[in-house]
Amino acid sequence: MPRITRRDFLNGVALTVASGLTPAAQVAADPARYPPALTGMRGQHEGSFEVAHAVGREGWRYPIESLAIEESYDLVVVGGGISGLAAAWFYRRAAGDDARILVLDNHDDFGGHAKRNDFTINGRTLIGYGGSQSLQSPKTLYSPVARGLLRDLGVTLGAFQTAFDRSFYPSLGLSRGVFLARETFGRDVLVAGDALTVPQGEGAQINARPLGEFVAELPITDSSKAQLLALYDAGRDALRGKSPAEKKAFLKKTSYRDYLMKTCGCSEEVANCFQGRPLGFFGLGCDAVPAADLAEFGYPGFAGLGLTAEHAAERREPYIYHFPDGNAAIARLLVRALIPNAAPGHTMDDVVLAPFDYANLDRIEQNVRVRLNSTCVDVREQDVKVRIGYVRDGTTRRVETKHAVLACFHMMIPHIMPSLPAAQREALASNVKTPLVYTNVLVRDWRPWIELKVSSISAPMSFHNTVSLDFPVSMGGYQHARDPGEPMLLHLAHVPGAPGLDARTQFRIGQIKIYQMTFADFEERIRDELDRMLGPGGFVSARDIAAITVNRWPHGYGYAANSLFDPDDYDETVVKRARQTVGRVAIANSDAGGDAYVHLAIDQAERAVRELLQQ
Ligand SMILES: Cc1cc2nc3c(=O)[nH]c(=O)nc-3n(C[C@H](O)[C@H](O)[C@H](O)COP(=O)(O)OP(=O)(O)OC[C@H]3O[C@@H](n4cnc5c(N)ncnc54)[C@H](O)[C@@H]3O)c2cc1C
Repeated sequence: MPRITRRDFLNGVALTVASGLTPAAQVAADPARYPPALTGMRGQHEGSFEVAHAVGREGWRYPIESLAIEESYDLVVVGGGISGLAAAWFYRRAAGDDARILVLDNHDDFGGHAKRNDFTINGRTLIGYGGSQSLQSPKTLYSPVARGLLRDLGVTLGAFQTAFDRSFYPSLGLSRGVFLARETFGRDVLVAGDALTVPQGEGAQINARPLGEFVAELPITDSSKAQLLALYDAGRDALRGKSPAEKKAFLKKTSYRDYLMKTCGCSEEVANCFQGRPLGFFGLGCDAVPAADLAEFGYPGFAGLGLTAEHAAERREPYIYHFPDGNAAIARLLVRALIPNAAPGHTMDDVVLAPFDYANLDRIEQNVRVRLNSTCVDVREQDVKVRIGYVRDGTTRRVETKHAVLACFHMMIPHIMPSLPAAQREALASNVKTPLVYTNVLVRDWRPWIELKVSSISAPMSFHNTVSLDFPVSMGGYQHARDPGEPMLLHLAHVPGAPGLDARTQFRIGQIKIYQMTFADFEERIRDELDRMLGPGGFVSARDIAAITVNRWPHGYGYAANSLFDPDDYDETVVKRARQTVGRVAIANSDAGGDAYVHLAIDQAERAVRELLQQ
């Protein structure tokens, strides 16, 4: 096997033909470049955000008044994520197949956060997800509208029961592991058999070790170990003397970190064992997540409070509703339903390997068109029409439409539609999105994981808060990696942030942090942490990494109300005010649902279209 030196590695792929990769797909000038197969820096990639940032500059507008109107539509959708594509779908269903619909998106691929990452090595394709990961508890959380759309797209939830092989990693003796890094804990230690928190879903097979045995191996002092174990003691009430209602109110207004350190008397070391654990779900560490929320997620410290255990609705079902490309499959199903010549096939299975023809997304003869690399810069109602300006390839253009759905980020809307009422603009602007980075690393084999007996690693004080083997999902002829000697995708998550500050400030600081990082900066952190976590199992990044795709999402999860920083009625007041339909312009996106979920993106698309058509 050829040795890949640091010098050979550029923008995500090893520049060696012997590696079996297809770097030709990288060349931007190549008309055959297939967006899902691009490696290097993806997500909110270069070329997608510059125009939007110019619009965001205070008081500056794109001059569009004098431009000719080039096209006329029934509906223009701003934002080609799941919400925008679903809005196009609901509109066509209500208005009929003759409805002329244009979807604009600023990226070079459709799907918004729901992005697919393909890799080819030794003639084999591995499929990964670059953003929106799984359908979260669809039987518990999904509305009839969201379930109905999935059904109409051919998605049967039962199929995941067999497609997702829940026993695969446990059957190899693998478990969840915890990595405690030397910068915080004095030395690098990976401990298999994580017993600190319980993963989602009934029957999750995890090979957790007995708590005492697990804690004994952590690199913390004996007194910290005793404090950690005491958190699980059901006979200990850290809030003795308070009524149940007072306890609940206290936990809503106290961060989990403060609860551990100030209420339960734990050391900083103990708090650090948990600090980064909620990052993946909340985009915030323990310093900014309410203790009440983590109680519902099964974190320790609450068993003795005498409160009825409430489990977050998100945790009631197994976490198995995952396509090989994550929720990009939903975006692909929507695009194929809207534009049948975009890809062959009709089922949830055949969409997995279906090649999409991007040249067919925006053809003049189609009633539904998806136009990529197009940033909307201006929305205004005039007479009985909505006029929309957008920038594509450096040229500003104008179209008109009967109706518009803004399915883009809420904080962008005040800039493109300043005519909205001030209170609505303020509500929209308060949706500060969570920055996060999902990285896929293609490795030539995964023997080190077998050696170390882990399938996923939680690293509560590291740059990457989780590092995992890809989900074991086989579907539509695609087989997940089964042989540890074969290539595998590793999934790494990074959430920046600035512990100690309020949620929005952390998000704003984090957005800038990851915008300022180059691919080389990320690559350095990836290699360093993988070598340190997996090196004891035989991993050598210079030899074992074949490709990297960094999906950078400075504007990631939509804002969800946080009881530490927002009033109880936040959803009923601010979120509702933000999504008001104004004239012929309706507002969707998961932002309009007050949380970052596919089903909310769909629900809000349906509501937006309904409100327009009821007029
Ligand atoms: C890393 C990550 C992981 C996630 N995991 C999950 C998960 O497991 N389960 C889940 O349910 N949800 C998850 N989500 C939440 C995700 O936001 C939703 O699932 C869903 O994809 C949101 O769809 P949307 O259409 O509302 O928004 P988006 O996907 O953000 O789509 C909006 C689109 O509008 C574009 N846009 C913005 N402004 C303009 C403009 N002016 N002109 C043109 N286009 C514009 C944006 O760039 C984007 O492409 C995840 C999100 C992220 C970032």
